[in-house]
Amino acid sequence: MKLALIGAGPRNLMALERLLAWNKRVSAPNLEIHLFDPAGIAGRVWRPDQPHELLMNSLAAKITLFTDHTIEMEGPVIPGPTLLEWARRSGTTFIKENNYKKANYLLNEIAHLTPESYASRGLFGIYQEWFYQQLYAQNSKTVHIVFHKTTVTGIKRLTHHTYELRFDDAAETFDGVSLALGEGMSQLSTHERDLTQFAHAHHLTYLRTGYPAEQDFDKIPAHSHILLRGLGLNFMDAMIMLTQHRGGRFYRNSDDTLTYQASGEEPKIFAGSGRGFPYHARGFDQKVVGETRPLYFLSNQLVAHMIRHQEQMSGQEFLNYIYSDVACTYYTKLVAQKYTGISFHEFEQAFQKDPLSDHVLDSYGIAKDDRLNWDQLAHPEGNVKTADDFKQVMLAYLEQDIAEAKRGNKTGPFASAMDTLRELRTNIRKVITYKLISDEDYAKDILGGFNSFNSFLAVGPPILRLEQLLALIKAGVVEILGPKLQLATEQTHFVTYSELFPEYKVPVTDVIEARLASIDIRISKNPLIQDLLKTGMARPYELHFKDGSTEQLGAMDVTTETAELIDNDGTPVPNVYVWGITTEGRHWLTNGSPIPSVNDVRLRMADTIANQMMTYSE
Ligand SMILES: Cc1cc2nc3c(=O)[nH]c(=O)nc-3n(C[C@H](O)[C@H](O)[C@H](O)COP(=O)(O)OP(=O)(O)OC[C@H]3O[C@@H](n4cnc5c(N)ncnc54)[C@H](O)[C@@H]3O)c2cc1C
Repeated sequence: MKLALIGAGPRNLMALERLLAWNKRVSAPNLEIHLFDPAGIAGRVWRPDQPHELLMNSLAAKITLFTDHTIEMEGPVIPGPTLLEWARRSGTTFIKENNYKKANYLLNEIAHLTPESYASRGLFGIYQEWFYQQLYAQNSKTVHIVFHKTTVTGIKRLTHHTYELRFDDAAETFDGVSLALGEGMSQLSTHERDLTQFAHAHHLTYLRTGYPAEQDFDKIPAHSHILLRGLGLNFMDAMIMLTQHRGGRFYRNSDDTLTYQASGEEPKIFAGSGRGFPYHARGFDQKVVGETRPLYFLSNQLVAHMIRHQEQMSGQEFLNYIYSDVACTYYTKLVAQKYTGISFHEFEQAFQKDPLSDHVLDSYGIAKDDRLNWDQLAHPEGNVKTADDFKQVMLAYLEQDIAEAKRGNKTGPFASAMDTLRELRTNIRKVITYKLISDEDYAKDILGGFNSFNSFLAVGPPILRLEQLLALIKAGVVEILGPKLQLATEQTHFVTYSELFPEYKVPVTDVIEARLASIDIRISKNPLIQDLLKTGMARPYELHFKDGSTEQLGAMDVTTETAELIDNDGTPVPNVYVWGITTEGRHWLTNGSPIPSVNDVRLRMADTIANQMMTYSE
């Protein structure tokens, strides 16, 4: 049996481990497993030699590639160390033995790693390389494991379930294939092409969307005025690459704030986005591995019941459940801290009966200023009128966000509530995957609203990044322009401004798209995705509305539970699986790595796919 894993990032490394675990049970004859990735083991996001300042936004203690007893799966559990445990136990030896370019930085990082640390991306890459080497050493006598540092450019179906993979002007035949292709790059849009041409014609710089570790920040001269478009995670990366990576230093003051000392090599950075505010910081993590808060509204029982009985709810009901769980956490933490005269158990019970009106809050005397204000969260600018006033609003926003995040995800009301939003992900994923809301409501309420708000609230960077941003604003290195950011061209340069403050227009010479390319297979530059679409072996996922109309999404269509690829005729392609980011839209929030001890969806899927690949029969 010969199996192919295309992409050697976390997902297919987990699949490799699961295949080897299943093989111990089923002993496939002459098993060969081939992994493909031009970026090497660990893939493109986690290259060990990338700039060391680029951090993960997950704690080292809460990242793993190993299964545990919480995973609902049929395969054998084979536990192993989290990233933190590995780094402390064997990271130093492994790094020294393997002569990594950034060894000094990495060894220093390990020496200071704590359960509260966000590891560098390079370190997670090295953990993955170690993971692969272990699997190879333990299994290579019985299983032929081969890694090809190359791109697969096409797949051709030969018989019912044998496939020819094309790579490096060669072709080999396989019995089963798992594709986990990651974010990737998209073709230049007309807008991007125009900006590229304008930049070229006037000797300016335009860096299109891309992986921060690959964007050529060296092209940006010191002291030039530049725009970073986007205020999410990539913005934080670009900000650090243009400041700290250029020799600037952050110093912690006695009041726990940061001060930035410039190196003189920085550009002046203007930034903005549609929403105009950076993503909220992740709360200081007070929970031990595997610890979660119960969900009362979008509960595990409710979702399991609905799946079992194929029931649907409206999009509004779905959102109400989500917001009720978040609010329940917020108010019970608030009451426990600030309204100590109230029994918080009694309050919790009353709130759970009536989470959506103000009735319970009024009757328990919760002050208006203490209430969770969703409108204000969505539009922190309020009705600010001038660019100067907006600067003050931004400073206050950052200060408050940092303070709230520092109060912790078990004790701080806001940080705890946002943690509940993160913990809801498993159930939100199930609602989307099993279509527990109609396609209309999915398009309107989730794709058209909740997704962006969720990213803003609950996909943010470590607190440190917001502290650094605040220090850079105070040092005059960064200025945030505000919501509804506009970019235009004038005779010889770019001009940018917030649509709210059109009188404040800023000329810039360089523009960096501080976000990833949109995940849309129809405009993907990945030759394999294009080949699969061209030959009809894959198709984009479609929403079907009650009036008979349809809407095509940029996700690859796959079966609900088994992740089998669906071809142009709507038929599953036998023993070919596609999972992860290529299916974003069909599934929900696919761009993460596994968390230990929480029945992680990625580890579950790795086991399912490995099981199917090993036991497939016509
Ligand atoms: C800049 C950035 C930072 C991130 N930070 C975090 C974080 O801190 N925490 C977190 O949980 N998640 C983070 N993520 C999300 C990340 O996508 C996941 O954590 C994880 O890497 C997904 O694993 P994967 O195996 O599905 O995809 P990837 O890790 O993206 O791996 C996919 C691999 O497929 C390869 N590939 C694609 N096409 C082909 C082909 N045709 N032939 C051969 N190989 C191919 C690519 O080269 C790539 O290496 C980040 C993502 C990015 C882009």
